[in-house]
Amino acid sequence: MTSAPSPPGTKSELSGKLLIGGEWTEGSTGRTARVYDPASGTLLGHVALAEVDDCLRAVEAAQRALPDWASRAPRERAELLRSAFDLLRAERDDIAEMIVRENGKAWADAAAEADYAIEFFRWYGEEAVRIEGDLRTSPSGDKRILVTRQPVGVSLLITPWNFPAAMATRKLAPALAAGCSVVLKPALETPFTALRVVAALERAGIPQGVVNVVFPDPPGPASRAMLGHPAVRKLSFTGSTEVGRHLLREAADTVVSSSMELGGNAPFIVLDGACVDEAVEGAFTAKMRNGGAACTAANRFYVVESLVDEFTEKLVARMSEVTIGPGLDRANQLGSCVSEAEKQKIAELIEKVAVEGCSVITCGSVPQLGSFIAPTVIRGVAAGSSIIREEIFGPVAPVISCADEDEATTLANETEMGLVGYVYGPMRRALRVAERLEVGMVGINRAIVSDPAAPFGGVKQSGLGREGGHEGIEEFLEIKYMAVEW
Ligand code: NAD
Repeated sequence: MTSAPSPPGTKSELSGKLLIGGEWTEGSTGRTARVYDPASGTLLGHVALAEVDDCLRAVEAAQRALPDWASRAPRERAELLRSAFDLLRAERDDIAEMIVRENGKAWADAAAEADYAIEFFRWYGEEAVRIEGDLRTSPSGDKRILVTRQPVGVSLLITPWNFPAAMATRKLAPALAAGCSVVLKPALETPFTALRVVAALERAGIPQGVVNVVFPDPPGPASRAMLGHPAVRKLSFTGSTEVGRHLLREAADTVVSSSMELGGNAPFIVLDGACVDEAVEGAFTAKMRNGGAACTAANRFYVVESLVDEFTEKLVARMSEVTIGPGLDRANQLGSCVSEAEKQKIAELIEKVAVEGCSVITCGSVPQLGSFIAPTVIRGVAAGSSIIREEIFGPVAPVISCADEDEATTLANETEMGLVGYVYGPMRRALRVAERLEVGMVGINRAIVSDPAAPFGGVKQSGLGREGGHEGIEEFLEIKYMAVEW
């Protein structure tokens, strides 16, 4: 058995295959897709494309592997996950390099992603042995109520390109810990990182068929067919709200349990009494992590009138310090967009807001070659402006002046999204605002919320369910109640 793909750092092109029932294989028609390094535009390699039949074979392989995997002792599953953690930790820099090469992000962002991603195997190795059940007495005393949890079954995991390692491991680790077998469908822009992670799971000793990987193109007919297969009992999706809605409709036909991690439009609020320097540093981190291509990225900055000028000037100065260029040069702090198309989308948002009469401040200059966007601060943004209704997904910071905390909170909630919000200011005031924000997560005087031990997820149209924490494994478990004659 050969693992895919070939290691990064070699001159040769990478070649990725599908993993079906423990076999690394080409798709049934031999079609492949090209994968490019967006920072240079050069060809990185090819990945095998799956046809609908290949995807159904992957589901059937997962179905065959399920009974054995689900019945393994939790401790055994835990130890296999721990081995995967150890293997991946030893390869952390290689994983980070792969992320940089196919996604374009800066080295520091890729290294932070690799650390976060790998940690899920340790966390869920520890959670695998803590799956709870309980015994209750019925109020009438006629029986005992025995409540237990079982793996939900074959799970379809669909992931985006912006965190090619972490979005895969945040699903793989809890699914495997719970005793589910899976079919993983990573984004076609960034297939090689996911393949490396899966190859490590194979080396750690996860049995054949428990983890399968497919790359259908287009993905729609294949996901429809897989969701229609009676063995598939779980869909865990991370991606845009638009595709999430579509998949929810498809999952409805076979009533497949669905967890959704969807788009964000995070408000970043600076209150009266906030330390402006701390708020600027927080704003910089919440905006620039992953080059702004994060569902958690601060998308709209609401700053009280008394602080808005100082905040904006200092944010421009901070954004202007950023070194921009290919992520393989570890000195660069901002890498490229994942593709030229993604860059164009962000450039169009900036052009649109300039036409609306806002003041666009470009901070720094970008390399000629590759898909780069310079950090940009936008002043004079009106509450209803186009740029604050959309998920920017790039290093662009629109600043909106607000009268007070009430107005900031009201404006922050005026969106169909509700993933995360950030509040900077004195603690009592910040907590008051945090409680009123319609989001699943809040950073209070803190710009990063993600932690494998915390429940990550959104409200409103940002998603359903949680990943990480104790909650993440629950998404892959079903409750069974047994009425016991006592
Ligand atoms: P996307 O929705 O275009 O694609 C996500 C995945 O879905 C990819 O693997 C893609 O191939 C697949 N896909 C697309 N159409 C499909 C279909 N019809 N059937 C089955 N699969 C399909 O999203 P993207 O552009 O890759 O990622 C960016 C989006 O992801 C942003 O909106 C971002 O906020 C969101 N995101 C959310 C979280 C979160 O935790 N909430 C985390 C990361 C990214």
